[in-house]
Amino acid sequence: MDSGSPDASAVDVAIIGAGFCGSMVAVNLLRKAKQHVDVALIERSGSFGRGLAYGTTDRSHLLNVSAAKMGAFPDDHEHFYRWACENPDELRRHGVNAVESHSFLPRVVYGKYIAQLLDQVNGARGSLRRITAEAIDVAPQANGRLRVKLRNAPALIAQHVVLALGNFPPGDPKLRDQRFHRIERYLENPWSEETRKKLAEPGDVLILGSGLTGLDLLLSLAPLKSQGTIHVLSRRGLFPRPHRIVKPSSSFLDANSLPKTARQACRLIRVQVEQAEARGIDWRAVIDSIRPYSQQIWQQWPIEERRRFLRHVKAFWESHRHRAAPEVLELKFQLEKAGRLRCHRGRIFSISPEKDFLLVQFRDSNAHLEKELRVGYVVNCTGPECNYHKLKDPLVVQLFSRGIIVPDSLFLGLDVGLGGTVLNLQGERVSHLHTLGSPQKGILFETTAVPELRVQAAELAGRILYQLEHRRKSHTLDQSEHTAVAFQI
Ligand SMILES: Cc1cc2nc3c(=O)[nH]c(=O)nc-3n(C[C@H](O)[C@H](O)[C@H](O)COP(=O)(O)OP(=O)(O)OC[C@H]3O[C@@H](n4cnc5c(N)ncnc54)[C@H](O)[C@@H]3O)c2cc1C
Repeated sequence: MDSGSPDASAVDVAIIGAGFCGSMVAVNLLRKAKQHVDVALIERSGSFGRGLAYGTTDRSHLLNVSAAKMGAFPDDHEHFYRWACENPDELRRHGVNAVESHSFLPRVVYGKYIAQLLDQVNGARGSLRRITAEAIDVAPQANGRLRVKLRNAPALIAQHVVLALGNFPPGDPKLRDQRFHRIERYLENPWSEETRKKLAEPGDVLILGSGLTGLDLLLSLAPLKSQGTIHVLSRRGLFPRPHRIVKPSSSFLDANSLPKTARQACRLIRVQVEQAEARGIDWRAVIDSIRPYSQQIWQQWPIEERRRFLRHVKAFWESHRHRAAPEVLELKFQLEKAGRLRCHRGRIFSISPEKDFLLVQFRDSNAHLEKELRVGYVVNCTGPECNYHKLKDPLVVQLFSRGIIVPDSLFLGLDVGLGGTVLNLQGERVSHLHTLGSPQKGILFETTAVPELRVQAAELAGRILYQLEHRRKSHTLDQSEHTAVAFQI
């Protein structure tokens, strides 16, 4: 293939980001292709198939979905479970001696599973080129292709580009005095090894946020931190609820009569949970039965209703919907019982750097009092920043400046068409530029976990292949017409 540029090489598809989403688009492309397809998978960390979630090396970080539901393919949910059963050595290496369909396995094991899928697919129906580099620009070319600029590596010219950028670090809390943002005692990256080491030092520490990332840190710190109290502070004081094995319940929803407002949805769920519990059915089954309809509900709500949901319901919904392995919450309970962990519900109004500590002042919503904590470190676990305008990521900043991407109207992700086509500043499709996963939060809301992402990855790969094959056919037709015309002459 002619790259049309001396300093760049050509590929059919360039995928930026090799977490679950990018890797599974690559795997599906290479598995389903009927003709040869060249795929470049670009990852700045150098670790392919893992991404943020499965790149952890801490084996206490568990999946929050049971093994039998974590298959990477939409038509084979048990694929990962079978892989785990067939790879006992891999499990033992990470301290797991037996696996059941309902086990919550270490996330590091899942990373290995995806990495292996990538290894197996190479050469099947095309080529997979792994490029360790950071993509810093994507520029549409006059011939309809896209030029992907890489830091410290030659550029690529691609027919299609997939932005699989995933989750970004949490945004810094916006307080009147922002000086703490620059202080060593404020740790903005909850996932780094250095953060864990610092938090393990003697002395009190504060975790901001009580979601899955906050729980991850508790797990890491439990064996490491021998002196000092771990404080957790969040606005609502809600932790993810524990999973339990429950019999699935048939859905009480019907595609033609979905709740029209957030209030109606809450009322409906409350009534259904009460009725289910009276019949001995767990509330989890009711929540899970909504899953097939949640994207449809979100899409039919007008923007004000979506805003209302985000303001009043989101935190409660997420703590029930994105649950954690029971053993994780058991550990939290034990830490609290031993006095090593204290959880607070409230709103911070200042974090002031003092000589040897950070002074954190907050309004305690339970006691209706202003309180303060003196801690050695504050770590931000408030969840990935999804307002793209606030990101300093070089690629994102560059794409904004080109007007190629814009945030969606709720600032939850990017403005995209159905199926993940990126929309530009004018609201038009950017030809051959696609995305999947978290940037689609604005239009889908539920686009976070493997059960949704595996569908998106397979469908996107199918659409790209269709377009590539269609283009090749019309190209061949064009050429044969030229030949026919030439012979007539
Ligand atoms: C801590 C955590 C735990 C989770 N646990 C679960 C779970 O147990 N079960 C579940 O179903 N879901 C879980 N999730 C949800 C998770 O988001 C998805 O399962 C999935 O991993 C998302 O994959 P992704 O590829 O979209 O993003 P990511 O995993 O974030 O991958 C994006 C990749 O893109 C790379 N990248 C970004 N920009 C560039 C660039 N410019 N150039 C080159 N490379 C770039 C990054 O380095 C990264 O590797 C978890 C999420 C988190 C954050």
